[in-house]
Amino acid sequence: MDIQETIQSLREELNLHNHNYYVLDDPTISDYDFDVKLKELQDLETKHPEFFDEHSPTQRVGGTVTKNFNTVTHKNRMYSLDNSYSKEDVLDWEKRIQKILGDVPLEYTCELKYDGASISMTYEHGKLKRAVTRGDGFQGDEVTNNIKTIRSVPLHLKGDFPDNFEIRGEIVLPLEGFAKMNQELIEIGETPYSNPRNTASGSLKLQDSAEVAKRPLDCLLYTLIGNDVKFTTHFESLEKARNFGFKVPKEAKLVKSIDEVFEFIEYWNIHRHDLPYETDGVVVKVNNLHLQEELGYTAKAPRWAIAYKFKAEQVSTKLNLISYQVGRTGAITPVANLAPVQLAGTIVKRASLHNADQIEKLDIRVGDKVFVEKGGEIIPKIIGVDFTTRSLDLLPTVYITNCPECQTELIRKEGEAQHYCPNFYGCPPQIIGRIQHYISRKAMDIEGLGGETVALLFNNNLVQNYADLYDLTVEQVIPLERMAQKSAENLVNGIEKSKEVPFERVLFALGIRYVGETVAKKLAKHYQNIDNLSNASLMDLILVDEIGERIAQSVVEFFENSENQIIIQRLKDYGVQLETKTVFNPDATDKLIGKTFVVSGVFVKFNRDDLKKAIEDNGGKVGSSISAKTDFVIAGDNMGPAKLEKATKLNVSIISEDDFIAMLG
Ligand code: AMP
Ligand code: ZN
Repeated sequence: MDIQETIQSLREELNLHNHNYYVLDDPTISDYDFDVKLKELQDLETKHPEFFDEHSPTQRVGGTVTKNFNTVTHKNRMYSLDNSYSKEDVLDWEKRIQKILGDVPLEYTCELKYDGASISMTYEHGKLKRAVTRGDGFQGDEVTNNIKTIRSVPLHLKGDFPDNFEIRGEIVLPLEGFAKMNQELIEIGETPYSNPRNTASGSLKLQDSAEVAKRPLDCLLYTLIGNDVKFTTHFESLEKARNFGFKVPKEAKLVKSIDEVFEFIEYWNIHRHDLPYETDGVVVKVNNLHLQEELGYTAKAPRWAIAYKFKAEQVSTKLNLISYQVGRTGAITPVANLAPVQLAGTIVKRASLHNADQIEKLDIRVGDKVFVEKGGEIIPKIIGVDFTTRSLDLLPTVYITNCPECQTELIRKEGEAQHYCPNFYGCPPQIIGRIQHYISRKAMDIEGLGGETVALLFNNNLVQNYADLYDLTVEQVIPLERMAQKSAENLVNGIEKSKEVPFERVLFALGIRYVGETVAKKLAKHYQNIDNLSNASLMDLILVDEIGERIAQSVVEFFENSENQIIIQRLKDYGVQLETKTVFNPDATDKLIGKTFVVSGVFVKFNRDDLKKAIEDNGGKVGSSISAKTDFVIAGDNMGPAKLEKATKLNVSIISEDDFIAMLG
């Protein structure tokens, strides 16, 4: 096999595995084997940029930055749906359509109403061409680069797909992935997202597609529109779409009467909670496409479809107690402890009350009957108090003034909703939480040491901070609960091994408030070592790309603290990586400072990544699309005509790779 064939066959193989995993939910190889193959393809593509393909599975990781999304007019308007809330509403709807159509037998397709953000995608010759948000229904934003990163969106189709068609669906954030994202935010002291739907729709408009790639989004399809399509019913179109490689939920059902529609609704009203993503109703559609056409549209919605909205599930129960949790960053979260009650298939005992304002807003008192709802979040929320049953002797809730764990007086910063325990170094859950964060998978990833052991170590006075970990000996650890010679050795070895973890992850592990993984990477790259970073002034920090005042302030405070200074000196002495190991680049200059380049097409002397690196190494900036701010377009073979036209229109100089080399002298 020659190189091109190898690349092609790897791409096909990886596409198939992606489809098995993300669409069919039935992987046939291990994640590890998948990664090995992907890496192999990446390497070949880097070595052979002449075979670049924007639809290659390697492009799923994203990396393009879009400052302004293009507005695109929808070829077919994206209508809304009429809503119904009862059986009667649905029966009325059937009567209305029967009146228009006369006495014809009607079949319906019942689908779930997926709760996310709608998307319209165009495929040409079996490849994803464009993806556009719904916008106002007439025009939306082009978000193709972001959509491409969603693994269940096929970049290449299979089967006998039409040459040109539009397909619509919903971008959703499955509950499990959503919970994980929030867990990570909570870990760095950030506010969690409020619900999966808003997070999904917000994701579509992120500027950096690499950020979108990290989110566990999914795409569920429900409409296929095209001129040369070979089907006459909606249900058939769904099956076809599934055969082309799209994720069309199997729950969709063809039914032959309105009674069967009700059965579908009743079944899913209960079982929707077993689905991995959120739904807020059922969509009933007239199945025959000719009849759909005959029915047409009102000013707002199709006449041939109706959405039945599920009622939000609600129960009332008694509030027994309000307790307060202290997080790693000292943030206090009030928790409602409820009389256990069944809600949407689970037993609920606790609900978050968020903060003092929320408690005041609800005027919630211990002893109250409260309404609990399972909304977007996994944790149920309290939506109100049943004032009709409140007894007169209930006292207003007084928010705690002191930390429940260490009794220190709480503080609340101007403009912040949360109260904090400022006893950073003496408050047990904060100390333990910080060490737990330090050893966690994305931070130092210490093998042989888990969160519970950290608590044990602290409670046995063996560690007070993460630097103390490096002094631990096997003898000290063995007497602890559930420890033995072997596990104690593993623990100490795991800690020793963490000295090889690169600086950017160490920086994340330190647990500086608001410094998450991405920010840690940026800071590590910019400052190269901990001394530079700790000497940086507020102003210095703010000038770093994408570092805002809040982060800068938090970094400065962290390094000003003398206990932190001691801990960091100790980490240094133990040999923990506190600087970036850089490869010295003798070719770096500042010849391109102030110049923005856009790279387009295929090159002979560089691959695209090396070319971009060469621009940045010499002080230039790489833009993702041509705009008035672009100084040069470096054009290789096969530069698209649209780009050429845009560059010419904006008077941007178009240069060859040789011109570029000449620029660097
Ligand atoms: P609404 O936003 O309430 O007007 O409802 C219309 C929206 O429902 C569409 O824009 C879709 O994004 C969404 N939707 C979710 N699931 C479906 C489905 N199975 N069929 C059609 N639309 C759906
Ligand atoms: Zn405290």
